[in-house]
Amino acid sequence: MKKEKILISSCLVGENVKYDGGNNDITADTFIQKLLNEDMLIPLCPEVAGGLETPRVPVEIVNKKAINQEGEDKTLFFERGAQRALELCKEFDIKYAILKFRSPSCGSELIYDGTFTHTLVTGDGFCSKLLKENGIEVFSEKNMEKLEKILFN
Ligand code: SF4
Repeated sequence: MKKEKILISSCLVGENVKYDGGNNDITADTFIQKLLNEDMLIPLCPEVAGGLETPRVPVEIVNKKAINQEGEDKTLFFERGAQRALELCKEFDIKYAILKFRSPSCGSELIYDGTFTHTLVTGDGFCSKLLKENGIEVFSEKNMEKLEKILFN
């Protein structure tokens, strides 16, 4: 078995870092349990790492900027958090990440369109985009079976 370190959105392992103070815990999943048991996961919330408080006003991406629902520009926090994630990946030689679907930081392939109407468009969140640009393969909780095959087959 190839033993790697995997970056994971910390809300997916039960940390209460979501904008509303909650989490998106998927630790009941057998693959995630395997990764936890093997001590392979490195959790990070890019938004908290970038300096944002929890709870916080929700953000969507508008014209490549991170704008919250009150119209404030939070782009610098998002960029800082994405950089922190990249630093962690370099520090632990991380090649794979499991990042939360649809988030303006962690989302990959599909994100909300900036209208706060739950409308999805093609695109990556700030963190996913930066990691992909640096050769890290980004999965979400929706397609983890692909990563499981890479790691355990
Ligand atoms: S930024 Fe990522 S880790 Fe943090 S709450 Fe949002 S989806 Fe979860």
